[in-house]
Amino acid sequence: MLVVKFGGTSVGKPERMKKIACLVTDMPGQKVVVLSALSGTTNALVRMGELILAKQADAATQEIDQLEKHYKQFVDELYAGEAYKAIGEEIVGRFFGLFRRLAAGHFDDRSYRELLAQGELISTELFYRHLQEQNISSGLLPALDFMSIDENSEPELEKISKRLKPMMASLHAADILITQGYICRNHLDEIDNLKRGGSDYTASLIGAAVKAKEIQIWTDIDGMHNNDPRIVKNTFPIANLTFDEASELAYFGAKILHPSTIVPARKYNVPVLLKNTMDEKAAGTVISDKISSQSEVKALAAKDGITAINIKSSRMLLAYGFLRKVFEVFEKYKTSIDMIATSEVAVTVTIDDLKSLDKIVEELKSLGHIEVEKNQSIICIVGNGLADKSGVLKEVFNALGEIQVRMVSFGGSDNNISLLVNTSQKDNSLKALNTGLFGLKE
Ligand code: ASP
Ligand code: MG
Repeated sequence: MLVVKFGGTSVGKPERMKKIACLVTDMPGQKVVVLSALSGTTNALVRMGELILAKQADAATQEIDQLEKHYKQFVDELYAGEAYKAIGEEIVGRFFGLFRRLAAGHFDDRSYRELLAQGELISTELFYRHLQEQNISSGLLPALDFMSIDENSEPELEKISKRLKPMMASLHAADILITQGYICRNHLDEIDNLKRGGSDYTASLIGAAVKAKEIQIWTDIDGMHNNDPRIVKNTFPIANLTFDEASELAYFGAKILHPSTIVPARKYNVPVLLKNTMDEKAAGTVISDKISSQSEVKALAAKDGITAINIKSSRMLLAYGFLRKVFEVFEKYKTSIDMIATSEVAVTVTIDDLKSLDKIVEELKSLGHIEVEKNQSIICIVGNGLADKSGVLKEVFNALGEIQVRMVSFGGSDNNISLLVNTSQKDNSLKALNTGLFGLKE
């Protein structure tokens, strides 16, 4: 069993949707195909929802009309014959009718989440009908009937697996089982989602739930690159990553993968393959438990929006339990810490979730003097055996030259060196490290 996920750009144009139909038809055996919404749709739904919440009815209607035009043209180009063009029009009419009803009624957070879920519901229905028109055997697996999260927004993998297996068994005659990425039900049985970019996570949860042979994530780039291609000119795809390396990269900013994707795949040791829909011959990146024997730096990623909080206290000197008190404050406000640096009288931690910053700072004041620095970025250097690689820090700091580093984390993991720099220095840091660590010229 394969689980194959296609992102928004892979289904964002009628010819691409046709292409992925051919791609999955050529793959042997039964597969679950997870689709995102067409590119731009979830963003449009977010805008729509915000306008409706802000009671800007005219602007919301304009947004709905504009998106509808796009979908009308899409179905006209997707389907070949009149019968299916009519089916496509019915689908578009039904979804946009719902948007207008939602916009006109009592609109709250719950309706907003229902609205956000429609992007994946429409893309999968359009695709399913396209396969039907092409006489390709397929079935629909409604994600809202099996994908669920608990009260902490954590996916319920066992329940998902229990619900999914009989649904799949009843569709055993179909080679292609289509389902929606991103969407789920929450503990109140309401429609909810796995956060932006969550379709990758859906694919990985399904892969783990059915113990798939492989999870394939198809996007518009040929795998995970050694550096951020949006910032640095010369980058290259990495052939192999371990689950740990890929988690670090996804968490620290490699946009290609939703950061939680690796968790279920790693749990059941299902390899994840990253592939490019625009260039299916390209090898892509394999993420698995295979560790290479060589110590090497493999990739860089950067995460913005980081805030450093420094707690200085002479009470920390020779005391025990001080860090526990600090961490308890973050735990209380469910705020996770990324980096830590300590001296005997001070500790600095970084966070990216600023929801409870003011309350955290207020409580920390009882422990010492607090300073907060915003607009920081974490540069994450990922590789294998980094803690044992002699001279690796020298290479890093030689490459960075004069760039000021605010914080360093090294030795916590064999796979990671993290540096904190001011966000204004992020691009320069990535470029300098690309040259210094990979020998690539700008
Ligand atoms: N459509 C959703 C989004 O744009 C989920 C996804 O594409 O992964 O965030
Ligand atoms: Mg994505």
